[in-house]
Amino acid sequence: MVLEKASVIGGNCRSYNVSGFRVDTGPHAITWLKKGPLVDLMDEYFDVLPKFEEHGNYFVRDSERLIKFPYTLQALARFNVFSKTDRLLMARAFVDATKNHTLDEPMLDKSVSDFLKNYPISKRGLMFIDTLSYFLSGSSMDDTPMWRILSGGGATHELSKGLRKKLSGVMGVVANRHESHQGYPKGGIQSITNSIIASMPETTVIKTEQDVKKIKKDGKLFTITTDSESYESEIVVFAAELRCLENILENPLEKKYIEKINTLKKSSRTMTLWLGLKRKRPEFDYKGSEVWFDEETPYWAMPTSNYDKNLAPKGMQLIGFGSRILAGESPAKHKEKLLRTIKKVAWRIEKDIVMEHVQVTYPDKASITVGAKFPGPKTPIDGLYAVGTDVDPRSMGITRAAYSVVEMLKEMKKDNSS
Ligand SMILES: Cc1cc2nc3c(=O)[nH]c(=O)nc-3n(C[C@H](O)[C@H](O)[C@H](O)COP(=O)(O)OP(=O)(O)OC[C@H]3O[C@@H](n4cnc5c(N)ncnc54)[C@H](O)[C@@H]3O)c2cc1C
Repeated sequence: MVLEKASVIGGNCRSYNVSGFRVDTGPHAITWLKKGPLVDLMDEYFDVLPKFEEHGNYFVRDSERLIKFPYTLQALARFNVFSKTDRLLMARAFVDATKNHTLDEPMLDKSVSDFLKNYPISKRGLMFIDTLSYFLSGSSMDDTPMWRILSGGGATHELSKGLRKKLSGVMGVVANRHESHQGYPKGGIQSITNSIIASMPETTVIKTEQDVKKIKKDGKLFTITTDSESYESEIVVFAAELRCLENILENPLEKKYIEKINTLKKSSRTMTLWLGLKRKRPEFDYKGSEVWFDEETPYWAMPTSNYDKNLAPKGMQLIGFGSRILAGESPAKHKEKLLRTIKKVAWRIEKDIVMEHVQVTYPDKASITVGAKFPGPKTPIDGLYAVGTDVDPRSMGITRAAYSVVEMLKEMKKDNSS
């Protein structure tokens, strides 16, 4: 049985129609599609599979140019978006970071800004690194640990010897890019949720508009109470925010476990502005994502209709622009700023806009921050498990949530056999 408080299931992994365009809940690139937890789950449990298109390149946009992301130190050295001094400082910082990390001296557990304070990188260079930090961790460079930048939102926080060697020649998003295959599902990200729903056993009951208010374990049985109903079960999988668990669960939780949960910080509030354009713009004629980190507001954009033309009416284009809403900034003000930025990038784009749609969301339940201790799927209460992006720090978004499910299944099997 699935209990969902909203009127539809899928959370942040949904798509819906707006004036003939099909928008997702934020721009999504799905990571680790060659080998990874989502693929493992799909192989084992999906009867219906989403069809992924290759994600393509990551670009950095600089005034009127699109430049491929500098994945290697050699590419960074030639990346003339920055001054030569900046390029050298950044390269030196990344090399030093991989060299200096030892278990006795965990340099990489420092925040990115703390680590970089000895490297006099320009304000513009730091803006780029801040933008990168946010896209890789969900937080600014003041909170993002250095290891997250080096592993590119990748698999682990422990840098193995092999990975460290590899990283000494590359930077950022890199490890992720080299070791994974990224994609975007045909039909939008709803295809992933639809495949899951279609693969559920016939006995599955999905109940929407069921806000779980109380969970109580008595003997072997949990009672789960919503506004209108009560349900009983021997096993409960908690997929809401872990920080809410203490208030929902009537049984006491160990202090150590609560302390762990309290180390988690919610990811930054994000605005996605979806623009439906009446023609395909030459600036956005590519498959992939672009990052803008300069004046006004940084953004990450993905022209999703370039992967699947059915996401936009015939001959039109759909682009999602995601950007971080700063503390104290109102969504209305942020939207104005984001639109001004987009107009700077794409000349007279306003003449082509036929649809504007704004979403304000939190991409992950917890961001990867210095000192965050992800608790894993097993809670101190027998039979109560947790899944989602605040359970496991590996990778990003959907892949991170998939890791939590893989680990939860392992724990369940262990508990079942003991
Ligand atoms: C702007 C944006 C960009 C993103 N980009 C990417 C990307 O590029 N790649 C990627 O892999 N991922 C990306 N993500 C993240 C991805 O969508 C999520 O990680 C994914 O949906 C899994 O999230 P989750 O299961 O942790 O939580 P959610 O999707 O938030 O699901 C939690 C569910 O629990 C329900 N719930 C909460 N409390 C209760 C309650 N008390 N009772 C009943 N139900 C409850 C919620 O309504 C929701 O449906 C992005 C997300 C956003 C918003």
